[in-house]
Amino acid sequence: MYKHKERPRPIEIKSRKELALMRAAGKIVAEILNDLQERARPGVTTRELDERAQKILDKYGATSPFMGYPNSQERGPKFPASICTSVNEEIVHGIPRKKRVLKEGDLLKIDVGANYAGYIGDSAWTFPIGNVSAKAQELMHVTEESLAIGIAQVQTNKRLWDLIATIQDYVEKRGMNVVREYQGHGVGREMHEEPSIPNFLDEEFDKRPANIQFKPGMTLAIEPMVVTGTWETQVLGDQWTVVTADHGLAAHYEHTVLVTDNGPEILTLWK
Ligand code: MG
Ligand code: MG
Repeated sequence: MYKHKERPRPIEIKSRKELALMRAAGKIVAEILNDLQERARPGVTTRELDERAQKILDKYGATSPFMGYPNSQERGPKFPASICTSVNEEIVHGIPRKKRVLKEGDLLKIDVGANYAGYIGDSAWTFPIGNVSAKAQELMHVTEESLAIGIAQVQTNKRLWDLIATIQDYVEKRGMNVVREYQGHGVGREMHEEPSIPNFLDEEFDKRPANIQFKPGMTLAIEPMVVTGTWETQVLGDQWTVVTADHGLAAHYEHTVLVTDNGPEILTLWK
């Protein structure tokens, strides 16, 4: 999750010591997603999933970087939960609720972050609740695959636009769209570091992000958000939940990835 903001700072190169903490944070995130996958069933509330995630964070002395995250609207409420749970047409930033009972056929996106000893892991996954439609299954497949082939571009002889174009082309060739108003990001001591990693390349050249070359020690949260309809979004009255403007279905997959001399190392790998 990250709304586009223009404030270029240098891209952090993590030291070995820092990477040990990034790996530890990533492992906690992976454990949470693995655990929640088992629990995300019809009849379960999104609040119960949130409480479970917080328990696992507590076990490691970790915290959620989402809890208390400032709103993009100046006087908007801070994010009130440990994870984001977004259902069906909700894309990202859904707030877990006691009354949000998951039902057969729902498409649930869970976004998990862990801050461990000052370093952050960030990952999201899409879970079918019971049996979902063929369209939802195809959307999940395309989005997960776009993340995988995007991550494969994380090589020291490649650049940011290679990654972005790979994701965008793959999705659009399958008749779906990437969300344009939210994007991936560098991650480390802050949840949102440089570079911004949109999932599309603007037609206007000067609106594209700097086409930086990948360097060992960069840690990136790569996160395609894909929709079956149009890519325009709206924010609900809770001032957090982002939905598709046309109420089409959305999927979201994200990993925190380290650039190494030997290619990508996924720090949040769990399946
Ligand atoms: Mg993220
Ligand atoms: Mg995330």
